[in-house]
Amino acid sequence: MAKQTILHCSFCGRSRDEVKILIAGQEGHICENCVEHAQEIILQELDVRKESTLKNVKAINRNPKEIKRFLDDYIIGQDEAKKLLSVAVYNHYKRITQKVQKDDIEIEKSNLILVGETGTGKTLLAKTVAKLLNVPFAIVDATVFTEAGYVGEDVESMLTRLLQNCDYDVEAAERGIVYIDEIDKIARKNDNPSITRDVSGEGVQQGLLKMLEGTEVLVPPQGGRKHPEQKMIKVNTSNILFIAGGAFDGIDKIIARRVNTNAIGFNVDKAMQELQRKNLLQFVNAQDLKSFGIIPELLGRLPVITHLDPLDAETLRSILTEPKNSLVKQYKRLFELEGIELGFEEGALHYIVTKALEYKLGARGLRSICEHVLTDAMFELPGTGAKEFFVSEDYAKEKIDKSKLGQLKVA
Ligand code: ADP
Repeated sequence: MAKQTILHCSFCGRSRDEVKILIAGQEGHICENCVEHAQEIILQELDVRKESTLKNVKAINRNPKEIKRFLDDYIIGQDEAKKLLSVAVYNHYKRITQKVQKDDIEIEKSNLILVGETGTGKTLLAKTVAKLLNVPFAIVDATVFTEAGYVGEDVESMLTRLLQNCDYDVEAAERGIVYIDEIDKIARKNDNPSITRDVSGEGVQQGLLKMLEGTEVLVPPQGGRKHPEQKMIKVNTSNILFIAGGAFDGIDKIIARRVNTNAIGFNVDKAMQELQRKNLLQFVNAQDLKSFGIIPELLGRLPVITHLDPLDAETLRSILTEPKNSLVKQYKRLFELEGIELGFEEGALHYIVTKALEYKLGARGLRSICEHVLTDAMFELPGTGAKEFFVSEDYAKEKIDKSKLGQLKVA
């Protein structure tokens, strides 16, 4: 007579007569106690995940005014850009965290485009807002991308950077921020798209459309070009905030032309002079960007347009000392680490600002000028036991005159 096998729960080992229910699977059984226990584990795990999602939301518990105040600590001036960015970011994350509504109203993304000369703080704005929100952030350069099929990188590879910056945590990347620099360099080169293939310009703009709007993108894990054998990572871009920036050299003329035609009937010359004296960029709109060569479809996906003001002497002077991690504060800290107290004469700061204006590099010039002024001291002083070092205007002048920077003739 065949021996009757007694059924057991494959998880806790209890036999059939010790439990109420034993559910059969393909290769084993599970009892009602183990099902209950497993369910508890699942609920706990889901709670943990939800909490980590909410952690991001917490960082967004700031209203636009508070976001702007945070930006004020790091970025001098640029009030309009800061205000628009604060609102856009606030709305963007509110949109991500909103509960599903019955009425089907879908809030669209508020990707932004920042127009402003080089070194005026475009990248800094995007970077600072990502820091505030504690979300992954990537800076990509629009000029490295080309239309599929040509030498260059696929647009999808910009998401590779984002993934790399958060250790390939797809969920985190999907609510990150991508700053696309030099968007103006992929402007359409000529007005008639059918004359020649515009490999680096319009084709790339077309490539960006879906991604900016929100779609599932297959991303090559190592960037570059996609190829068929490669294993891809699927990233949904619906909640990624894209901020594009560019200097748009020459757009002031386009704006001037538009404003001029609108001004018919006024004393045009006088009105124009007045406008030019102010900063024409402040009037930039989608129409101007379209005339510059950005295709309307792309502009539709970058609905918030704002400008950054050129930096004048006063702003540059503030940038040197005021932001939380201003250059002067950074150098003071560096010297402090050597036990040396660093000081600047007001005239020296003024001189650094004058030079930065001369080189037309925006705030970026401040750093290289400071570096030239302080390199000798940073080389000589460590190990001498010096306790303080004071940069006078004459000292700054002498160092710049001697440096390669000083020998450059500025046109
Ligand atoms: P871009 O507009 O070319 O993207 P960045 O944001 O990279 O310019 O600015 C270059 C550097 O200049 C930054 O690292 C920052 O230190 C400084 N900077 C530029 N604009 C400002 C500003 N408005 N306030 C404070 N620092 C600024």
